[in-house]
Amino acid sequence: MRLSLIVPCFNEQDNIFPFARAVAEVFPDPSDYEIVFVNDGSKDKTLQNLKELHRQSQQNIRVVSFSRNFGKESAIYAGLQHGEYISLIDADLQQDPAIVKQMTEILDAEPDTDCVCAFQETRHENKLMTSVKSAFYKMATNMSEVDFVDGASDFRTFRRTVRDALLQMPEYFRFSKGLFSWVGFNTKYIPYEAKERASGTTKWGFKKLLKYGWNGILAFSTAPLKLATVLGLLSTAFSIIYFIVTLLRKATEHIAVDGFTQTVILIVFFGGMQLFTIGIIGEYLAKNYIETKRRPVYLAKEILDYKK
Ligand code: UDP
Ligand code: MG
Repeated sequence: MRLSLIVPCFNEQDNIFPFARAVAEVFPDPSDYEIVFVNDGSKDKTLQNLKELHRQSQQNIRVVSFSRNFGKESAIYAGLQHGEYISLIDADLQQDPAIVKQMTEILDAEPDTDCVCAFQETRHENKLMTSVKSAFYKMATNMSEVDFVDGASDFRTFRRTVRDALLQMPEYFRFSKGLFSWVGFNTKYIPYEAKERASGTTKWGFKKLLKYGWNGILAFSTAPLKLATVLGLLSTAFSIIYFIVTLLRKATEHIAVDGFTQTVILIVFFGGMQLFTIGIIGEYLAKNYIETKRRPVYLAKEILDYKK
């Protein structure tokens, strides 16, 4: 089997059959591909429809059904199992299966490309949302070691090498955009236009997106943990400067230092020291946090051994 399409589904009952039909139109030979549907705890008839599709299919439909809603990231992780090329695609037909074909052709033609990722050149959503998203990607890229590419979606097709690398990262709080850039490999970006949802509604409200973005930053950056160190140092420095200025004024202008000034200097100084030490604890916690993810120390793409 050459291509595995991994399709996370959460309450997509009316999209299952149209999706399978759309894929069959692009790939006429059923032995060219398989579809791995991951039912992410849907509360509608998604699972029934998947079972029906599985019954009718010609041995190229797999269904993994979760015990509850674990989120799209978990669904992707569950689906990453089979095939030479693996493709992540949504069930709602916003992402055209014809583009998957284009992606596989690129992988066929270019042995050096490991992953083809579709990005939205223009987004069909309100301007405010678009600018919030691009601000987020800039901030996340600055705060962490990996690049978060603005507009790049999970809509990708990649080789097994990339899949195996992803499976080596068993962390629970997954953020695909970061994981894909963390594993490296050669990625080619091609533009695509997201279509209207075929049926049903989006599962990503503003609140859920905000939480997702925040988790993304936490998963790839320990900068928030180290904030206390910086604030503490600034605060301590301020109190020391204030102290020196007060001493100088006392010496030159012969003013008496009042209790208020002394109190402010002491509060800011000790406040700063406390923040600083909390920050140091944060630094250790940050190291610990990264270690507990048990990410591989390195990923080798190719190994050339002595010829035997
Ligand atoms: N999805 C999922 N679990 C969730 C939320 C979404 O498996 O908790 C799936 C959903 O069924 C769809 C894909 O992820 O196939 C993208 O979701 P959606 O279309 O709602 O996102 P949008 O396109 O609006 O960003
Ligand atoms: Mg969608």
